[in-house]
Amino acid sequence: MTNQGPEPGIVIIGGGHAGGSAAAFLRQYGYKGPLTLVGTEPLLPYQRPPLSKAWLKGEATAESLALRPARFYVQQNVETRLGVTATALDREAHRVTLSDGSTLGYTKLVLALGSRARPLALPGRNLGGVMELRTAADADRLQAALKPGARLAVVGGGFIGLEVAASAMALGASATVIEREARVLARVACPALSAFVQDYHRARGVDVRLATGVEALEGEGGQVTGIRLADGGLVPCDLALIGVGALANDGLAQAAGLDCANGIVVDLAARTSDADIYAVGDCTNRPLPMYGQMVRLESVPNAIEQAKQAAADITGRAPPMPEIPWFWSDQFDLRLQMAGLPFGATQTVLRGVPDVAGFAVFHLGADDTVLAVEAINAPADFMAGRVLVAKQKQVAPGLLADLSSDMKTLAA
Ligand code: FAD
Ligand code: NAP
Repeated sequence: MTNQGPEPGIVIIGGGHAGGSAAAFLRQYGYKGPLTLVGTEPLLPYQRPPLSKAWLKGEATAESLALRPARFYVQQNVETRLGVTATALDREAHRVTLSDGSTLGYTKLVLALGSRARPLALPGRNLGGVMELRTAADADRLQAALKPGARLAVVGGGFIGLEVAASAMALGASATVIEREARVLARVACPALSAFVQDYHRARGVDVRLATGVEALEGEGGQVTGIRLADGGLVPCDLALIGVGALANDGLAQAAGLDCANGIVVDLAARTSDADIYAVGDCTNRPLPMYGQMVRLESVPNAIEQAKQAAADITGRAPPMPEIPWFWSDQFDLRLQMAGLPFGATQTVLRGVPDVAGFAVFHLGADDTVLAVEAINAPADFMAGRVLVAKQKQVAPGLLADLSSDMKTLAA
């Protein structure tokens, strides 16, 4: 199938959170021309966050996972080409080649290629029971293996490792988390938060090994039986999950000569170095004006924000207001929420005592500007902190630490 009309329209490559959102915003913002969404996975755009949480625990339905119901794509006249991968991009001809041999012309192209699990070049990585978690298919395989009594070992104490460990315990399995750094969540959280989270996991039976390297995956009869550690120790397991970060899927863009540097380089309108090509979501390296830096963000709020930016630019609307990056994670009965990035922070302020009842950590610059907030089970502190960060407000550390100060008033 090839669309060769006079106006080929907009083609979105990648049917994840960013691609699905871009299709919806384009229609919402009034684009009425041909719109095609191409995705490698056989599913309509769905949400990945439940894959390590509710979906893994069997607490979510396929309908609740879907970004939008199937009828949306029919009603909004979005042609979906699922189970097909874009393999080449001819910028001069404005044409994309797909894995089924067909080609698609485009007037504007949106690359929403996402990211992939970082591979770990360990001996034994092809053994049965060695898994990664990126797609719904991965989650289904993992869920099938997480039977009561199963021994899970996770390499990586990041979001995936900790969320899956918590879900595994809820399913009656046991979990060991092996982290190379001296604390979990080192990439995304401050030491106080990491300390609280790792203690919480340990108190609930997760074996958290810190500052621990891995040497190999060991097996018998083609099936993984353990993870050999750098210190010679062995963590016996029935399944091993590798959760050591994500890499941007920018190969298609690189091969086509678009500017890439740890992701496809875009501006605040999600424009690439080609005027007819946009890029959104995990595959991009984007500016964050508040911090004066380029950053590759891997989060749902970022995917949605950039989908809005691209759709607004394509349809000639005013650009959306820049948003503050924010993240969340659910582990056991903890809800972690973070807003802002602590670039340039010189002070941290603890509000409350680290406890499941809730506390927050604020990161401030030397002039008391609130740069970031991290909260656990403290949604009101998080919400107020997010406003403070967005407004770049200066607040005396003593006021933030004082539980009798009303956060809403401080943020007003
Ligand atoms: P993706 O969702 O990765 O989608 C990209 C899609 O493009 C994929 O389906 C891929 O197959 C397809 N694709 C790639 N190349 C091609 C090609 N050449 N042709 C056609 N299709 C292609 N974020 C949060 O904010 N909160 C959370 O709690 C959270 N939990 C998560 C839990 C898990 C288990 C995972 C894996 C991620 C989680 N994330 C979370 C991260 C979040 O899901 C991502 O940031 C988000 O999905 C990014 O959206 P995206 O569309 O850019 O990329
Ligand atoms: P991640 O959050 O980057 O964590 C990876 C962890 O693995 C890091 O702590 C990293 O430590 C560690 N690591 C790297 N190499 C290692 C090694 N050889 N041995 C042991 N540990 C190693 O990535 P992730 O948890 O794999 O998640 C993948 C993607 O899904 C990311 O985009 C993530 O944001 C997303 N995700 C998000 C959420 C959420 O937002 N709640 C939930 C799940 C997944 P270093 O710091 O030393 O590299």
